[in-house]
Amino acid sequence: MPPNSTTLALPSSRRKKPPSDMSRKGVDHHTRYPKAIHEDQNPFALLGFLPGYLRLLIFLRWTAYKCPHCSQVFRRDFWPRNVWLGTGKRVCKNCGQIFDDGSSEWPELPLFRKLRFFLPPLAVGIWGGFVVAAVASLFIGPRDEHSWPVVIIVSTFGLIPALAWSPIHLAQVIRSIHRYNARGNQGTK
Ligand SMILES: [Zn+2]
Repeated sequence: MPPNSTTLALPSSRRKKPPSDMSRKGVDHHTRYPKAIHEDQNPFALLGFLPGYLRLLIFLRWTAYKCPHCSQVFRRDFWPRNVWLGTGKRVCKNCGQIFDDGSSEWPELPLFRKLRFFLPPLAVGIWGGFVVAAVASLFIGPRDEHSWPVVIIVSTFGLIPALAWSPIHLAQVIRSIHRYNARGNQGTK
């Protein structure tokens, strides 16, 4: 009996089959149009050499999104990697050509992008600031039975910016899901 007969049996049947191209048709709308150009702009970077408060302008930066056909700017983002809901297809107001503006519909977004949509960095920053201040008050001030409720109240108060935007975000998400479903139905008919 050969000693290694069992280890030589490879699980060849487990090999993954390549995904069929047929199933992807109608979904892959992102590749049909040229992608928008995006450029990071930080025009005040050189002001870091200047004295005083002018130096704060170095933090003013944005990303400009341009039409790939005529370079017309159609959007400026002050936060990197913002989530934009949309069909992905945009008609340029300047040259009238169609391009991919990088937006996606809600059901297409991975979970972390969905969270990012509801919790923009500014709101998270404000909330974080409130929580840190509240917890710090526990260590700085005299501790009594009111300390923890104050932390909870202040932390909740810090969520107001995020909560204030959530109805607007929710409306955008619902519109996006409707658009997504409508597109799916068109594909099957
Ligand atoms: Zn254009």
